[in-house]
Amino acid sequence: MATNNKRDYYEVLGVERNADQQSIKQTYRKLALKYHPDRNSGDPEAENKFKEISEAYQVLSDPAKRQKYDQFGHQGLNGSGFQPFTGFEEIFESFGDIFGDFFGGSRRNRSRAMAGEDLRYDLQIDFMDAVQGIEKEIEVEKLASCETCNGTGSQPGTSPVVCPHCGGSGQIRRSQGFFMLSTPCSRCHGTGQFIQNPCLECGGFGKTEKRKKLTVKIPAGVDSGSRIRLRGEGEPGMHGGPHGDLYIFIKVREHDVFQRHGDDILIEYPISFSQAALGSTVEIDLLDGKDSLKIPAGTQHGRNFMFKGRGVKNLRTQGNGDFYVRVVIVTPTHLNQEQRQHLEALAQFDGKLNIPGKKKTLFEKIRNSIS
Ligand SMILES: [Zn+2]
Ligand SMILES: [Zn+2]
Repeated sequence: MATNNKRDYYEVLGVERNADQQSIKQTYRKLALKYHPDRNSGDPEAENKFKEISEAYQVLSDPAKRQKYDQFGHQGLNGSGFQPFTGFEEIFESFGDIFGDFFGGSRRNRSRAMAGEDLRYDLQIDFMDAVQGIEKEIEVEKLASCETCNGTGSQPGTSPVVCPHCGGSGQIRRSQGFFMLSTPCSRCHGTGQFIQNPCLECGGFGKTEKRKKLTVKIPAGVDSGSRIRLRGEGEPGMHGGPHGDLYIFIKVREHDVFQRHGDDILIEYPISFSQAALGSTVEIDLLDGKDSLKIPAGTQHGRNFMFKGRGVKNLRTQGNGDFYVRVVIVTPTHLNQEQRQHLEALAQFDGKLNIPGKKKTLFEKIRNSIS
């Protein structure tokens, strides 16, 4: 534990070393109110400050710990069973009373609203559906408010009673020294209410597992790894808290012909040697229909042609990528008599044809690739 870079607890609270318990408590209340997470939601600096002052108060409010700290500093608390707080829950659990009068009834004594769990659904879709967008119906299994008891957990016509164990406070209080500590009531799990006649459908849980059909609008341009959030389609919250969200994780199946690279599409298009040599106009299947491509005379193997803006729509910019056609010159493997004669006639000219590329370089390339 890095105790040496911790600030002095008196300094953290801004009290004198001889301050009495009453003024330490008052100072902590003032500071806790200022940095309370309810008031500084999402502010990490306030959160850290709140934890820091709470830890200081945890020690200085306990006479035994304070004495050890006064004598030996932070080191003195090591090995004394002292555990600094790690989260807010522990802080509220221990010092709840202090915040009570500030926040309209002690935080512990009301059943806190909690958001429901987020859910994940993995959805595999076809390549063209990802490119063009589609509506998909999915069926999700999730917890939903029990219809029989309306989510109360009690049999219809009955209501929960005040928890006999904690008297409805949801907390069991016990004194430790002169300090009152509270822990959530184990009987009612801190709700303060006790269900005497549990709903037969959900067993008192208030929720049941349900299958729900949902329509998911998948926008054009999604790719594997895209996530679609369906707000409020997660599991229901507790005590009036909001529903969680449902996240659809998209996985796109590969296409036989189209290769996707971000928003661009690449295909390989086979042509014959004579098409390449003489030039040709071919018809290409693009994402959005056919278009003709003029292959100029003397086209080399591997040359790329681009159809600008005919790629996939970008989810953010809504602009389109490009569509690339890479021509592949295919050497015929089965020749009939006539084809063979024509090629043989052509071969007589091979020495006189102006074939680009340095033969020596080509040979060296081959040799290097072998060694
Ligand atoms: Zn029920
Ligand atoms: Zn209880």
